[in-house]
Amino acid sequence: APREGGTLNAQHLTLTYDGFTALHDVSLSVPPGHVTAIVGPNGAGKSTLFHCLAGTLRPVSGRITLGTRDITTLPAHARTRAGMARTFQQLAVFPSLTIAENVQVGADRNRRRTAVTQALRLLDLMTLHTHPATDLSTGTLRRTELARALAGDPHTLLLDEPAAGLDAAEVAALATLLRALAADGMALLVVEHDLDLVAGLADTVHVMAAGRIVTSGPADQVLEEAH
Ligand code: ADP
Ligand code: MG
Repeated sequence: APREGGTLNAQHLTLTYDGFTALHDVSLSVPPGHVTAIVGPNGAGKSTLFHCLAGTLRPVSGRITLGTRDITTLPAHARTRAGMARTFQQLAVFPSLTIAENVQVGADRNRRRTAVTQALRLLDLMTLHTHPATDLSTGTLRRTELARALAGDPHTLLLDEPAAGLDAAEVAALATLLRALAADGMALLVVEHDLDLVAGLADTVHVMAAGRIVTSGPADQVLEEAH
């Protein structure tokens, strides 16, 4: 089971890009044992919010806490060390490394071997582990990224469009895995376009539009209104 990290909480986040306000007063929480989803049209600010939570963008105002700790100014690598793992919307697999080496990048030095093996098993990558991370399907590349994130034994997992480019069977397998991680106590935040995936996966859904959260609630309720 993942180590305890507490709830990731964003309060009143505002972020601007050169004077353009991409996030307006956004608040949400990502509790352990729960799948929280953010949906919304292109340009709504989903990835920008994701970057603030992951530490790759700094909000101009607002506060981010993890449990009782204020992490608003904590850099991304320190958040990773604190147990927050992430994947990228644009895949970030190193093509010159094997799949196993790509997964190792995410593991703590102390427990590298077991962590990598566990993550490869979980993502069904054992038969491919010595394969270079080139000429692979999007599904395999996404599984490699997820394995890398899990190899660090995170308590909080942030996923930006994890189903992009996956076929229906891969999406179903992904949903099953993510539900199991949440059932095991992990806190998951999923930014996702695919509302069918969100419906089968999320406990709580936040709908973003034009930099704001416009609707929040239980997944069935929010997605019902969206149809
Ligand atoms: P989403 O992930 O919901 O599609 P984004 O967070 O990527 O939305 O973008 C939100 C808004 O911020 C959009 O209007 C987008 O054009 C703008 N934006 C995103 N990244 C940048 C950037 N690096 N510089 C300037 N504007 C940006
Ligand atoms: Mg995006």
